[in-house]
Amino acid sequence: MRSITRIELQYAHRFYKFQGEAQYLHGHTGVLTIEVEDTVNPGVNMVFPCNEIQKVAWDVLKNFDHALVLREDDPLLPAILDVYEKQGIRNGAPSNKMRGAAFKTELATAYPECRLVVTKETMTVEGMIKIVYDLLKDKLNIAKLTFTSGVNAATQEYKPTGTVDRCPLCGVALVDGVCPKCGYKKH
Ligand SMILES: [Zn+2]
Ligand SMILES: [Zn+2]
Repeated sequence: MRSITRIELQYAHRFYKFQGEAQYLHGHTGVLTIEVEDTVNPGVNMVFPCNEIQKVAWDVLKNFDHALVLREDDPLLPAILDVYEKQGIRNGAPSNKMRGAAFKTELATAYPECRLVVTKETMTVEGMIKIVYDLLKDKLNIAKLTFTSGVNAATQEYKPTGTVDRCPLCGVALVDGVCPKCGYKKH
């Protein structure tokens, strides 16, 4: 069975060198749908608590919210960083509180201190799905990712393997046989 959750991300980006309006900087509300597959955990009668899926995903994905996403070869990147630097917000600002955990994968690098994500490829809806899968595949049993942004949408199915040992009392994944949330110990 699957547990399904949704996350909204507001971001700005552009398709550098793309022959169309999207080569100009613009913004979206993106909606990511994450489908997690596993057995139904009999203790709580859930695959996985949806708010826990959200928490795990949001921890890294908040890097994309109220953020600027630019491709690594986009000349806007040094220009923006220069402005941020001169304004004194390149390395953080008191109002920049919703920081995610910094990450660097083959496809993207997050700079939470200035709400910037630098990508290897253009951040299309397809590109976003590749980035998200890479970030979450070891944390969640992902069966399907769907990302919509304005009128654009993309979706990808995956074959999750194995099952995650989950707490029979609160449903979260056990760490070395112990529930990090309620302290339950597996005998
Ligand atoms: Zn766009
Ligand atoms: Zn628990």
